[in-house]
Amino acid sequence: MEELSHWIDGARVAGTSGRFADVYNPATGEVQARVPLASQAEMDDAVARAAKAQLAWGATNPQKRARVMMAAVGLINRDMDKLAEKLSSEHGKTFVDAKGDVQRGLEVIEYCIGAPQLLKGEYTDSAGPGIDMYSMRQPLGVVAGITPFNFPAMIPLWKMGPALACGNAMILKPSERDPSVPLMLAEIFKEAGLPDGVLQVVHGDKDAVDAILDNDTVQAVGFVGSTPIAQYIYARGCANGKRVQCFGGAKNHMIIMPDADMDQAADALIGAGYGAAGERCMAVSVAVPVGDGTADALRDRLVPKIEALKVGPWTAGDDVDYGPVVTAAAKDNILRLVETGVDQGAELVVDGRDFSLQGYENGFFVGPHLFDHVTTEMDIYRQEIFGPVLSMVRANSYDDAIGMAMDHEYGNGTAIFTRDGDTARDFAHRINIGMVGINVPIPVPLAYHTFGGWKKSGFGDLNQHGPDAFKFYTRTKTVTSRWPSGIKEGAAFNFKAMD
Ligand code: NAD
Repeated sequence: MEELSHWIDGARVAGTSGRFADVYNPATGEVQARVPLASQAEMDDAVARAAKAQLAWGATNPQKRARVMMAAVGLINRDMDKLAEKLSSEHGKTFVDAKGDVQRGLEVIEYCIGAPQLLKGEYTDSAGPGIDMYSMRQPLGVVAGITPFNFPAMIPLWKMGPALACGNAMILKPSERDPSVPLMLAEIFKEAGLPDGVLQVVHGDKDAVDAILDNDTVQAVGFVGSTPIAQYIYARGCANGKRVQCFGGAKNHMIIMPDADMDQAADALIGAGYGAAGERCMAVSVAVPVGDGTADALRDRLVPKIEALKVGPWTAGDDVDYGPVVTAAAKDNILRLVETGVDQGAELVVDGRDFSLQGYENGFFVGPHLFDHVTTEMDIYRQEIFGPVLSMVRANSYDDAIGMAMDHEYGNGTAIFTRDGDTARDFAHRINIGMVGINVPIPVPLAYHTFGGWKKSGFGDLNQHGPDAFKFYTRTKTVTSRWPSGIKEGAAFNFKAMD
């Protein structure tokens, strides 16, 4: 069995804590590797080394840092298939979807090539007599990224790209469930010219995370994962005086108006509801058709499509629509929630509970489920299931539908399908959710916009990637200077306007 290591000072380093976590092949249910879980001492050591390396990196001019990004783009493209294969083998998602995972991370690295432009400051000439004023953006020092299992390439790249391009050193604490791809990315960045120590990949669980949160050298923490952990990290990180942004769970509603193109809406729901086995924070898990006529028309189209879904291992090729979920515990939790749906009175229209795949009986596969007549009090509506389970909640009117989405505690993404511009515009303006699709089911913003949810899906002021990331990973310093120095004003005791 493979034993994975940390990545410290540009090399693979074995863990010393004596604690490990199993890494599964979700398609077979077998343990394929074990990953070390760092102790506080190991984390503190990695942070101290990163702080040393950051001094020179932070002083490196932005164009040179951008060249590392540029080289990394070429190398990630070179290794795309290798990365995607490893990603599929640990996560379970299909090969094509795994390449998309790498690709959407890569796009943020491409954006970071613009660091020299993005980091340019502001300048006011002659703010007063002989006085000029300028603001510059400086790196924070050592920052940390704590990332979830469901995008093991994309989200680490969203964290490391902007953090490093801004001149910080980063401690990346990836998910212990699929930790290999972040290690491969660290190797790629070394090959691209990143100095040793500037990116440390330290594996671990709560102990490692707490060590990050309590380490005074760590200036900022960017987290992505479930909401309870997001809230915990936000509270503890802020209490320790750090800059923190935490992105949490989701329950994304897609509203289908009676005038929508029903075939288009059904196709969108299939991809957004069941793609990646529903293990996406932007997955659509709630369909809200407006009116019974719309609901029936949608249901008629959805059922045959869901029954035709091909569930299988990534090795079966392009024919597979989605793969297993990440662990046995994830599978158990999904099936437990499905039972609550049945018990609480929802109609289980497509029942995937007995799904089994010949030859892969021990894999973590979950068949597709469709519930109809779900109500807003049910657990399957209120909780994030993170599996291939779509719930239909019938709304009487557009106002009912938008009200439902607005009342839900999560606010990551949402979509409306309609041909009516007035409705679409009203929805986009009124909804209290961070990312909105109009006839687009998964509205993930591109690298040069920012990504982030509202309500219990996001904690902190700034979003991920795009211009916000360059703000999050830098702090502003403003300099007021007087030249020539010969101008004499005498002692000034009061604030006054500059003449
Ligand atoms: P998770 O919260 O279990 O784990 C996320 C990270 O936190 C991992 O690195 C993990 O090691 C660490 N962690 C776990 N338990 C911890 C604890 N008790 N104390 C400290 N750290 C801990 O999330 P996950 O299961 O890996 O990922 C799925 C979740 O992430 C879903 O809720 C999904 O919606 C969310 N997610 C959100 C976004 C977003 O941008 N909003 C994106 C992707 C995933």
